[in-house]
Amino acid sequence: MSKNIAIIGAGISGMSTAYLLSGNGCRVTIFATAFSPYLTSNKAAAFWFPYHIRNDKRGIGWCNTSYQYYRSFSDQPQTGISMCQLKKVLRVNTAEEEPVWISFMPEGCCRAMEREELAPGIERAYDVTVPLIETQIFLPWLQQQLLQRGVLFVEREINDFGEIAGQFDWVINCSALGARKLCNDDTVIPVRGQVALLEPRSGMSIYLDNESLLYVVPRKDAIIVGGTYEAGIETTDTEPATIERLLQNAFEVLPELKEQAFIGSWAGVRPFRAEVRVEQEAGKNIIHNYGHGGSGFTLAFGCAETVCNMVLSTQYSVLSTE
Ligand SMILES: Cc1cc2nc3c(=O)[nH]c(=O)nc-3n(C[C@H](O)[C@H](O)[C@H](O)COP(=O)(O)OP(=O)(O)OC[C@H]3O[C@@H](n4cnc5c(N)ncnc54)[C@H](O)[C@@H]3O)c2cc1C
Repeated sequence: MSKNIAIIGAGISGMSTAYLLSGNGCRVTIFATAFSPYLTSNKAAAFWFPYHIRNDKRGIGWCNTSYQYYRSFSDQPQTGISMCQLKKVLRVNTAEEEPVWISFMPEGCCRAMEREELAPGIERAYDVTVPLIETQIFLPWLQQQLLQRGVLFVEREINDFGEIAGQFDWVINCSALGARKLCNDDTVIPVRGQVALLEPRSGMSIYLDNESLLYVVPRKDAIIVGGTYEAGIETTDTEPATIERLLQNAFEVLPELKEQAFIGSWAGVRPFRAEVRVEQEAGKNIIHNYGHGGSGFTLAFGCAETVCNMVLSTQYSVLSTE
């Protein structure tokens, strides 16, 4: 008999988990207080790149698996996913960032650029092929796929796992910041990210400079110019002075952006946790999958696959479903 699964959360973590479980014959119900387009997941830039996950070796597998999923989705234009060039730069006099992230790169997707290719002020740069996820296209597409497979979406706040655990074989907790209350987990911290939006333009690469927290992401709906990393701030308001600073920072490096009209700004709140939590709650039919911080898309399908393997493997089975 197929397993009956509840997922708490309808962001990229919950929907990618639902995608893999429903694709493996499980019946899935998603409970959430909010849905796309009203989630942090809708506010992501969103490109594949390991961020704040580099000390966690599990992240290498998760990032690689997600990369493969996105690459296969990129064959279908309606998914809103494409493979894109990303230029990762290190400025002159930058305190050398340990290049741990290189070990997260799938084979053959990353090339160190030659000195003569570098702009003035740049010490080192890498040319990386990464998936670009147009959240405004991909999240509705994913939701539609789930609906077609019979996944149920239920608007409901879950305050205690006991409310639903008895009715399902497994409950998967993809509640992001909601885990603070749901699991009494105060190690999950909100981290606001503000971005400016410029009118879109084709033919650009993604630009990433972690030192100055600058990223420029050429999407179909806007060029996203980020960003900020404001720990402890949970509002999704943007601040005009901050947005102006982000733009000036970008104009310094990419002056051609000055020609693009300013079309707005937004902010999202990352669910940061020092260690992403993907594990079974001891002795219970609950599996956690939350705390992906600034790498939720980069990790999503890898974490979802781990969860899916746990659900499908009998060794984790708590309730008898036969
Ligand atoms: C500005 C910005 C740029 C970013 N750029 C990137 C990027 O380029 N690449 C990348 O990989 N990541 C990026 N991120 C990070 C990424 O957006 C997040 O890691 C990801 O969206 C988290 O997804 P999630 O599904 O875990 O959480 P969310 O999208 O927040 O979804 C959480 C879900 O849980 C539900 N929920 C919570 N509590 C309960 C409850 N008690 N009962 C029922 N439902 C509940 C909510 O209603 C919601 O449906 C960025 C983030 C920001 C803010």
